[in-house]
Amino acid sequence: MPQNPMDTIHTDLKELTALRRDLHAHPELGFDEHRTSQIVASFLEEQGIEVHRGLAGTGVVGVIRGARPGASMGLRADMDCLPMVEANDFAHRSIHPGLMHGCGHDGHTVMLLAAARYLAKTRRFSGTAVVIFQPAEEGGGGAQVMIEQGLFERFAVDSIYALHNNPDYPAGVIAVQPGPVEAAADTFEIVVTGRGGHAAIPHEAIDPVLVASHIVIALQSIVSRNLHPLEAGVVTVASIQTSQLSACNVIPAQVKMLGTARSFTPANRDLLEKRIGEIAQGVAIALGAIATCHYQRGYPSTVNHTEQALFAAQVARTLVGEENVRCNEPLTMGAEDFSYMLQERPGAYIYLGQGGAPSQGVGHCQLHNDRYDFNDNIIPLGAGLLASLVEQGLPLR
Ligand SMILES: [Zn+2]
Ligand SMILES: [Zn+2]
Repeated sequence: MPQNPMDTIHTDLKELTALRRDLHAHPELGFDEHRTSQIVASFLEEQGIEVHRGLAGTGVVGVIRGARPGASMGLRADMDCLPMVEANDFAHRSIHPGLMHGCGHDGHTVMLLAAARYLAKTRRFSGTAVVIFQPAEEGGGGAQVMIEQGLFERFAVDSIYALHNNPDYPAGVIAVQPGPVEAAADTFEIVVTGRGGHAAIPHEAIDPVLVASHIVIALQSIVSRNLHPLEAGVVTVASIQTSQLSACNVIPAQVKMLGTARSFTPANRDLLEKRIGEIAQGVAIALGAIATCHYQRGYPSTVNHTEQALFAAQVARTLVGEENVRCNEPLTMGAEDFSYMLQERPGAYIYLGQGGAPSQGVGHCQLHNDRYDFNDNIIPLGAGLLASLVEQGLPLR
């Protein structure tokens, strides 16, 4: 009688929790995950798993062969932390000031390790499971670097899956659906150049502060007037800086603005890029100034493949029941570099609820908040889900 992987992994929860908290206490930034990478590689090697290191520097790939030959499935976890100060005061808080596992990648790493160990011990599948531990999800595009350095040429995978914890859902809930699930995240820098002068003699200056203010407001017409009303997009000016920072009686010569643009489809991404540039330049010209816009494309949108998303939902139902699997959730405009892997191979990005009952006080804190912590109670479910994707996707027959 085959066991449920979740139940098997649950017997190791104490040990896995200790490992997760050790990673939490020792956070490392993108491409600098040397300690984490070593722990991951050693853990896999102890299970007799074939380990490959060095892709994107700190990346680790483990290859686990099932009892019979067959297709190949990739499972991916991210390992990096955020450059932020942790406000928690529990025993496993970060020992590195200014670094924090504020997104739960410590938990993702441990869940994939637990799944790998289970799969290596039981081998109740046909084919190959490739476990991928990537650096630098938080802005560094570690997934893209691993791909550029030959990830999928060296390790053939026919499909690929990743989990992310989600404080908005209760622990025990799994959300996965076809189509876009995270946005494309681009950035822009607009520099408005006017003519500096005395704040009391504005008619002899060209005030870039006034021009920049008009640009900020006009940019908000892109989503409301240019984008289809049923499509999603965000244009946010997040930073405005004048070339004279502390004088109240000087009209500065320049204003620099930084912002982000989010979208789900390539057409809308093109639209945002085009209109941000046109508006910045057009408004500046109308007011006698000059604006330059530098638009930088970041992570593309994360788009789940239909067949794999439906399969992941079906696997999730076998673990938590129909009532705890959500497949028609509102999208969020966050971003994720697993998107690059989904551009290369069919697969799905799955959310794992981690909120506890309010009385328990765990798991509700939002990602990237300085009081966030990963909820260790979901380790068996997350690891069990990853293992079950392999067992059910590459069945022994
Ligand atoms: Zn994050
Ligand atoms: Zn994250």
